Amino acid sequence: SALYRVDGWGSPYFSVNSSGNISISPHGVGTLAHQEIDLLKVVKKVSEPKSSGGLGLQLPLIVRFPDVLKNRLESLQSAFNFAIQSHCYEAHYQGVYPVKCNQDRYVVEDIVEFGSGFRFGLEAGSKPELLLAMSCLCKGSPEAFLVCNGFKDAEYVSLALVARKLHLNTVIVLEQEEELDIVIDISRKLGVRPVIGVRAKLRTKHSGHFGSTSGEKGKFGLTTTQILRVVKRLEQYEMLDCLQLLHFHIGSQIPSTALLADGVGEAAQIYCELVRLGACVKVLDIGGGLGIDYDGSKSQDSDISVGYNLEEYASAVVQAVRLACDRKGVKHPVLCSESGRAIVSHHSILLFEAVSASSYQSPPTSFNGFQNLVEKLPNDALADYQRNLSAAAIRGDNDSCLLYAEQLKQRCVEQFKEGSLGIEQLAAVDGLCELVSKAIGVSDPVRTYHVNLSVFTSIPDFWGIGQLFPVIPIHRLDEHPAARGILSDLTCDSDGKIDKFIGGESSLPLHELEGNGGINGGGGSYYLGMFLGGAYEEALGGVHNLFGGPSVVRVSQCNGPHSFAVTHAAPGPSCADVLRMMQFEPHLMFETLKHRAEELANNDDDDPNGSMALASSLARCFDNMPYLVAASSCSLTA
Ligand code: PLP
Repeated sequence: SALYRVDGWGSPYFSVNSSGNISISPHGVGTLAHQEIDLLKVVKKVSEPKSSGGLGLQLPLIVRFPDVLKNRLESLQSAFNFAIQSHCYEAHYQGVYPVKCNQDRYVVEDIVEFGSGFRFGLEAGSKPELLLAMSCLCKGSPEAFLVCNGFKDAEYVSLALVARKLHLNTVIVLEQEEELDIVIDISRKLGVRPVIGVRAKLRTKHSGHFGSTSGEKGKFGLTTTQILRVVKRLEQYEMLDCLQLLHFHIGSQIPSTALLADGVGEAAQIYCELVRLGACVKVLDIGGGLGIDYDGSKSQDSDISVGYNLEEYASAVVQAVRLACDRKGVKHPVLCSESGRAIVSHHSILLFEAVSASSYQSPPTSFNGFQNLVEKLPNDALADYQRNLSAAAIRGDNDSCLLYAEQLKQRCVEQFKEGSLGIEQLAAVDGLCELVSKAIGVSDPVRTYHVNLSVFTSIPDFWGIGQLFPVIPIHRLDEHPAARGILSDLTCDSDGKIDKFIGGESSLPLHELEGNGGINGGGGSYYLGMFLGGAYEEALGGVHNLFGGPSVVRVSQCNGPHSFAVTHAAPGPSCADVLRMMQFEPHLMFETLKHRAEELANNDDDDPNGSMALASSLARCFDNMPYLVAASSCSLTA
């Protein structure tokens, strides 16, 4: 576990158990061992065929743990409750979950259900997000906020006002000054008194990758001049009482409590000024930014780590607001935050299999092995090189060996391009050069493990912004990993690889595959997991090469021999599903292919019924997921 820093990034949910597998303690520290869930057992249960008692789902797979979600929500709430009590703060904390972080129905429904006891609400940033938030919050606490952020048109504003009519505690946050006219106009037409918030563009700037939306030149929010104009205009329309919330967001992954307190303090001053100007503000919404320690380093100087925990975060917020308000004699506002990353990151794990690994033989201990290959080289013109190389080898002159080997290779490639060297001879030269590199210890010992996954679909932030996540084998952790490797995905794209890992590593310690791997090799499966990817990764993923999303299961803790139950299981999008996304009609495609098979079968006296079998195989292929399957599950030969 030290090798993979599990104790750092995994605490308090993930650890290595006595079988050398990753186990999950959904309720965090202090959980009894029998309440831990062995991840390998989950993978086996889900992926084994139905005939063996499994669920027959294909990998890659996302395993969701609603119990972890519940624990995250409760931990956030109690961190604020504790800070409020400790600092004698005279209002409560009432958070919202920004659905953009993961819009999955079960995730949002779980958050609403688990948070209803403490008025936890939702934040939406677009019309479909607002629609889903409205319907989910019908089952939540009536006091829960529905915060409407993002760019808005008349339709978005109307929808938000309809939400108010439906007695959902909806706040329309102005991201742009122009939205105010729309809100005034539509609320009059619909006869609904709106509750309005403004998003302030703070001067406080978060300098990390996720802070590019902050500062005076940030993409979102109103400047102080614009806020003053909004106040004036609302006053004109006798609607200043509608302005009830002040919002800001200085970016995700705020690195330190110092920066957090700086931003919150600035916003609290604006809040106090709004009170002075006569607005009926009641809520200070501090946006997102509560960070995750992806590498377990607790560092303030990195985009993937943060130098605080939940308690320290809540305490910094409460103290900064209290200080500003007490100085001005302003009643403490209700505190709202829009933490997404911190709520959903831990709750899911992406699991995938390594299907093969590039070979790496240990270097030969003597140079004798070279002679055979050298003798295969046919061309008299190469004699000089041969003489030089073998002489250098006998002298033990490594630098010259490498130089001569490279010259030899270059010469042979030229001859091959001219057509005077055969492919077998070229291969012999390549083999010779590889042996030389290995013998003198300059060959790259890092191997490529091919994984049954698309980085573009499932870890888009690694490809898009170079974000690192903990990626580790989920079993055999009691065994020393004898190799190091990078992970290369299934897409025909050189960016489809993971070659940077937490801890600044450019390769990952990995175990040898048993046999040649589980899919094409018929050996044992080697499972890897990507952790802490519950926020943003599902929402941002694409379908490069038409690899769709993974299968998804929801796993709850329960008493019983396995300590877990799969409460929901859905296969990932099939080939037909991803084709449909590209406007193909799989049904018509199938008919075309079937028709062709029938025509050919009619002309084939030897196999008149062949078209039937072919058609049913094709149908299965449309129904299966696009990822690799073992030969035994191949739809065309089954
Ligand atoms: N609120 C707003 C307005 C955002 O733009 C974001 C994301 O950047 C969030 C909340 C969620 O932030 P985080 O995931 O850091 O909690």
